[in-house]
Amino acid sequence: MKKRTSLQKNIILVTIVPMIVLGSILFAITYSHIKKTMKEQFKTELSDVAIATSAMLDFTFPGDYKTFGTDSFILMKGEVPLNDRFEFIDEVKEESSIEISVLYDNVRFLTTIRNEKGDRILGTFCNDIIKEDVLGTGNSQFYDNVIISGEDYFCYYQPLKNSDGRIVGMIGVAKASSTVKSESLQAVVPVIVFGTIIIILIGVIMFAYAERLTKDLLKLNKYVGEVAKGNLQTNLDNSLTKRGDELSQMGSSIMIMQRELRKLIEQDPLTGLNNRRSAAKHMQRLIKELDNSNEPFTMALGDIDFFKKVNDTYGHDAGDEVLKMVASTLKEGVPGKGFVSRWGGEEFLIGFSGMDVEKAKDCLENILNVIRNTTVHTGGMDINVTMSFGVAPGKVATQDEIVKSADDLLYYAKEHGRNRICDASDVKE
Ligand code: GH3
Ligand code: MG
Ligand code: MG
Repeated sequence: MKKRTSLQKNIILVTIVPMIVLGSILFAITYSHIKKTMKEQFKTELSDVAIATSAMLDFTFPGDYKTFGTDSFILMKGEVPLNDRFEFIDEVKEESSIEISVLYDNVRFLTTIRNEKGDRILGTFCNDIIKEDVLGTGNSQFYDNVIISGEDYFCYYQPLKNSDGRIVGMIGVAKASSTVKSESLQAVVPVIVFGTIIIILIGVIMFAYAERLTKDLLKLNKYVGEVAKGNLQTNLDNSLTKRGDELSQMGSSIMIMQRELRKLIEQDPLTGLNNRRSAAKHMQRLIKELDNSNEPFTMALGDIDFFKKVNDTYGHDAGDEVLKMVASTLKEGVPGKGFVSRWGGEEFLIGFSGMDVEKAKDCLENILNVIRNTTVHTGGMDINVTMSFGVAPGKVATQDEIVKSADDLLYYAKEHGRNRICDASDVKE
């Protein structure tokens, strides 16, 4: 597996962990809310069944409740003994799986609840708290943890009143807690599934975002590292510039810094031309580009004639203006992928791409004519200069050898009257 950086780990930690915590809290809140709602629902359901059962008993057997017999073992409703009339409550239980008991005082005379042997728990008592709550106050009560015959129930007890208003017993309806729990759980399951899917989805999105962010940060880090090491040719990854956010802005700022540094290192501040340091790089480029094709390239070294005199006569600032004029004339005159660089004080190295010596000489002739005919107006003075050039074919040997041979030919031009362009064919023994 790929090793993660501490930044990646931290981003994942601060995104995924809160998601899980938040998710768990949401689940807990939702579950308790659903449980509460379900409880209310069960309460209503149970009370409906209690009301319906008591109404049904009143309708079917009009009259008051009373016990009959010396031991009070028979429960009468009106004139009818109720003891064996289970059909009403059994039917309701079958339909709703709700247990029903009819209690006289606190004793079960009719019930659907059976013990583990399968016998109805007739003659058993409800607990004293319920007796007190319901019979004592005359109010219906709901309980969510009543143990009847060893099982846990949700119960609703409704008092039974005779026509004189006397509270004589209760209708108890009950739903096994296990059923209630499974029903609550069934209601929660879709919420949990949906919530989990949402959390996983958000998690995946956050994870992917964190991954991309750290990836881009690493790219930026690598780029900054390269620039810091002095590799000014390196480029910022495209995906970073496309982000359009603070990372892109940071990348752009470093790109600007890189460009400015490059200018500082590679450009001559007076003329704006490439300086000597970067001339070698341009020569290298020309050699590389033209090496595989059979295209020729030519190098020339140019030097302003009697430039010292210009300085001496018109001043150093005027000399600078002349240098600028010569630089711009050269730059304009060298076509295509060629280059011009300031090689030294008033010396310029020129590369002609795709040109043999003859063509380069023609080009230089035009340039020299422009220089000859350009008057530099500065400080109320008019200055004219000429130049000498040595021209050497680019493919003869190493960079140093090419420059050396151009330099020799420049020297030859100086020696033979200046204001001229010399190549090897001009050299007379
Ligand atoms: P030659 O025809 O033989 O080349 O004679 P030259 O006078 O041009 O040659 P020399 O090497 O004697 O003088 C070059 C002068 O260029 C000397 C130096 O002061 C001047 N120079 C070099 N860099 C600059 C610059 O940036 N600005 C100005 N104004 N002068 C410069
Ligand atoms: Mg000179
Ligand atoms: Mg010189």
